[in-house]
Amino acid sequence: MTELDYVPTICPYCGTGCGIYLVIKDGAIVGVEPWKEHPVNEGKNCPKGRNAYQFIYGEGRLEKPLIKENGSFKEATWDEALGLIADKLKGADPSSVGFINSGRTTNEDLYVLQKFARCVMKTNNMDNSSRFCHSTTVPGLLSTVGAGVMETSTISIEKADCIILAGVNIHETYPLIGRRVERAKEKGAKVIVIDPRETITARIYADIFLQLNPATDIALLNGLIKIIVEEELEDKEFIASKTSGFEELKSYISQLDMSELEQITGIPRDLMKEAAQAYAKAERGCIIFNAGIAQHAQGVGNIQLLADLTLLTGNQGRPGTGVNPLRGHINGEGFGDMGTVPVFYPGFVPVSGVAAKKFGDLWGVDGLPADPGIGYMDMVENCSILYIMGANPMMSAPDITRVRGLLENKDLVVVQDLFMTETAKLADIVLPAQTWAEEEGTVTETDRRVQFMNKAVEAHGEAKPDWMPFCELAKIMGYEDKFTFGSAEEIFEEIRKIVPTYTGITYERLKKAGGIQWPCPSEDHPGTDTMFADGKFKTPDGLGHFQVVEHKPPAEPVDDEYPYALATGRVLFQYHTGVMSRRTERLNYEVLSAFAELNPEDAKKEGIVDGEEVIVKSRRGEIRPFVKLTEEVPKGMLFIPWHFAECAANVLTGPSAGPPSKMPEYKYVAVNIEKGGE
Ligand code: SF4
Repeated sequence: MTELDYVPTICPYCGTGCGIYLVIKDGAIVGVEPWKEHPVNEGKNCPKGRNAYQFIYGEGRLEKPLIKENGSFKEATWDEALGLIADKLKGADPSSVGFINSGRTTNEDLYVLQKFARCVMKTNNMDNSSRFCHSTTVPGLLSTVGAGVMETSTISIEKADCIILAGVNIHETYPLIGRRVERAKEKGAKVIVIDPRETITARIYADIFLQLNPATDIALLNGLIKIIVEEELEDKEFIASKTSGFEELKSYISQLDMSELEQITGIPRDLMKEAAQAYAKAERGCIIFNAGIAQHAQGVGNIQLLADLTLLTGNQGRPGTGVNPLRGHINGEGFGDMGTVPVFYPGFVPVSGVAAKKFGDLWGVDGLPADPGIGYMDMVENCSILYIMGANPMMSAPDITRVRGLLENKDLVVVQDLFMTETAKLADIVLPAQTWAEEEGTVTETDRRVQFMNKAVEAHGEAKPDWMPFCELAKIMGYEDKFTFGSAEEIFEEIRKIVPTYTGITYERLKKAGGIQWPCPSEDHPGTDTMFADGKFKTPDGLGHFQVVEHKPPAEPVDDEYPYALATGRVLFQYHTGVMSRRTERLNYEVLSAFAELNPEDAKKEGIVDGEEVIVKSRRGEIRPFVKLTEEVPKGMLFIPWHFAECAANVLTGPSAGPPSKMPEYKYVAVNIEKGGE
């Protein structure tokens, strides 16, 4: 009988970081078993995790480099493909080259990418798919608590006695973190859900459901703050010793009119009061948020006010407290830690002349870029050469019809991925990448948890780990001695030297279930469950800074022509741009194609019946999903998941909002809906 082997690793999907065993038979993965001792998921996985391996053997998996000639791809050798790329990169103006990456790749892949961009191409033009999820989170939290990270661990959530779930349908999108909320609730915690949709999370978890009008979070959060202050429920001692800016906030909210806030949000003041009292009186109040808060033009302000709530009530620095963003990708935290962003060198060191000198000395390379690079959409707009690693902007970026036009007119687009994605089809050169099961490496999950992924099977075809082509390009371009990495572990050893929060983490230590949460300054340090436990924030003065934020309408409000507010989002059985999940038979069996959720009263008004195909139009374009009638969405709102290329929701979405985040307003797009006809 053939022996089965069980290789422990991490689920490749969301930022929860559940442990799984890949079941190996005759050198191939034949199944997944939950990792029972893993502290994050304790032997449970959601449907994506339980079917995590099928896409590895999905149809069309890339096996060899491909070069486009006269509009068609031809197979090439690695030497040919890399030689062509190097020819184009040599002598290119640093400002004309951009590197796009995603949290689907490992820390080692991301570290080498940014080192190549900075040392060889002398550019800080690099950015991550998280630009579209959490680009508001970082400025929102940097300006208040000084660190744009999850403060408690996912495991410690169950210690909270009041949990605010703000703009996060946790039961569908982070089911195993939702389980911690459920545990807290079983122990008596009160759960407050803030969402315009009555999601499954609202239905099964909420003790208090604040179903606000879309894009009115600032008005609601100001209302909660006003009630807490007026009822003197704030933590005066905490405010006096650990914060600044409270008087300005108090003065601003004293001028706000509760009737006006009720009218903007649609939430009666008694319900706001109930929520404000529950959170302010909790021993451990925990705020968890995600895209429903972050993906707005006013997302930075939304997040600043969530942080204000924690500072106001002293819900900081203890397990089960804080303001906590949930990251979408498996390595949703690591890309920032590795510095694959335009404004930070590794370890969140702001780009500057001093930083350029410091990293130049560390890497032994002169002339590193001292000015910030440009972000995701600015690179898509302005760079003539784009190198895209594990990202799929033709699905994830806003207004993809425009993105297509831009990509079609570049001097060179290189895509390194697993399959011929919607973006790869537009590339000049496509390089085959290894899946997470074919390479060794580390990822850093949503709660700063660094975890190790074992190599379980041999590479498919000639696919290489994502870091390797950068080392080979560096060799061709004269930087061989700076990129001598022979393994992922050698790269991680360099990361440990460069990023102080990773110094105490080793591959050996990571092989234990559950990984290690950074900061981990030394090899005998256990890692850090809770940020700010020493009572100091990461701001320059160590204080938490209250911010005053005024409610503003969405960037593109609904009107007579486009009367519905569309929110895009995820569903339980699919994932992001579908590269992995849509090549997984079991997940497709559950949710095969795009749908638009519509309130039955709106359907009646429009003469639309359940299940029929409709046309949804915005100022950018139109798509044809089928309709699902549900009271989950309120009147005047639509919800469409964005996983489906043939009916891509991002045909409808608008351009990025302005600085500082440049976040597209994915949770509020003015659209209309009509019958699809024949
Ligand atoms: Fe994977 Fe996330 Fe599901 Fe856990 S919750 S099994 S990490 S998709």
